[in-house]
Amino acid sequence: MQIYVLKFGGTSMADHKTWKQVLEIIKKYEHPIVVVSATARTTRQLVRAGKLAAQDKLEEALEIADEIKVRHNKIVEDFLEENPSEKKTLILDSCRKNTEAKIGKLNKLLAYTQKAGTLSPQMSDAIASMGEQISSYLLAQCGLVLGILTQHIEARKIIKTDAEYGRANPNRLLINQKCGSLETVLESGFTPIIGGFYGEAPDKTVTTLGFEGSDYTASLIGGAMSATAIEIWTDVSGVYTGDPRYIPDAQPLLELSYYDATEMAYFGAKVLHPSTLKPAQERNIPVWVKNMFEPEAEGTRIVRSSDHNREVLALSFKTEMAILTVSAYETLMGYSFLTKVFSSLKDHQLAVDAVNTTEASVTIALSDTEVLDQLSKEFIEIGHVSVERGKGLISVIGCTIDKMDGLSGRIFSALGNTKVDMISFTKEKRIVNFVVDEGETVEASKAIHQAIFTG
Ligand code: ADP
Ligand code: ASP
Ligand code: MG
Repeated sequence: MQIYVLKFGGTSMADHKTWKQVLEIIKKYEHPIVVVSATARTTRQLVRAGKLAAQDKLEEALEIADEIKVRHNKIVEDFLEENPSEKKTLILDSCRKNTEAKIGKLNKLLAYTQKAGTLSPQMSDAIASMGEQISSYLLAQCGLVLGILTQHIEARKIIKTDAEYGRANPNRLLINQKCGSLETVLESGFTPIIGGFYGEAPDKTVTTLGFEGSDYTASLIGGAMSATAIEIWTDVSGVYTGDPRYIPDAQPLLELSYYDATEMAYFGAKVLHPSTLKPAQERNIPVWVKNMFEPEAEGTRIVRSSDHNREVLALSFKTEMAILTVSAYETLMGYSFLTKVFSSLKDHQLAVDAVNTTEASVTIALSDTEVLDQLSKEFIEIGHVSVERGKGLISVIGCTIDKMDGLSGRIFSALGNTKVDMISFTKEKRIVNFVVDEGETVEASKAIHQAIFTG
């Protein structure tokens, strides 16, 4: 059986028209397993509702919940209006009931959060997952209208994780076992539709895999099922040399290696969740990134090895970064100083994007999160600490060193007067990172991209 795991993101799930397009794509496959995100904007709205409830603004939070309900009911109504079905009343009824029940649960979670006066990570996940819980059920019902034997499968039954709320780690062994049930569904001719992004901890509470986590759900299932391919359907025709939303001359890449795609995702290319490629890589499953709105466009194929002939493969950037510098009180602390710094980072499970060190100081570029203040306090024990927020990180990825002649000059002249706070380069990893002011990140990225690719 040739199994394809197809994932459709928020923009693909925007309204009844895109739902139809999604279902038309699904229809073309013999044995698809479908993973869907929440409808566009919903996750962000849910997160906001959770925060409002914690700030004692329950009424506003409940209004958001109601708006989500109304919007989803409308999508299904419009879908049924445009795609007549004998089962219309039945489907409409079951959709309304399901959405009503989910929103009822959401309202309870919000009320609980208001009472608690704080949004616990566990509550936050339960709330944030509601978008996928609702969208996956409704899309499966709409599939029936088009004659597809869609079957909604509750993600919690498949995606088993630890209890690290907000960025739960999948239990691959259990997921492999649970995916056995999907095979049975496929064998009976049904198409499973599963909500991405969330799963279940051992104590049966809801967890999430981190923002943009639906991509990861798809690859976890694809890996467990040894799928023929995993296809990430989105709103652009593949992985580009730079974010096409900001970099007008960015070009789609036909092929990429798992390694380079992971680096791009890690350094800000939102088109893929950074963990997506791991399960695929383990079983050598190709991952495609394809455009929902231009299904004929080739897209990008991500495979084990892909030789490229370019000086540079791509450019990624991310904002909301910070630079933290710790300068040791005592010089000549050597590795014990670095050990202290890195063990604190480990304690807080903080990933670092770039590091520069001298004998008695270390400068780290990392995402600006609430933990940063706590971290700075801890570092005061070993040295002077400075934190600069409001930074952006630009990463030039896949630099082929023997072709770098002249490239660094071009990059630096493209940077012009941009104030650069930090530079790091790793020959082995073929990456150059620049930290600049957040407000200059996009312009500097555009200029560097142009210098590299259109010269
Ligand atoms: P989905 O809702 O389908 O998950 P996302 O918004 O998460 O879609 O990802 C698609 C978006 O990723 C694109 O619209 C694009 O703006 C952004 N993006 C960032 N970097 C890249 C890149 N290198 N190639 C393609 N898209 C990128
Ligand atoms: N809906 C989730 C998010 O916005 C997961 C996803 O879309 O992949 O992060
Ligand atoms: Mg995404």
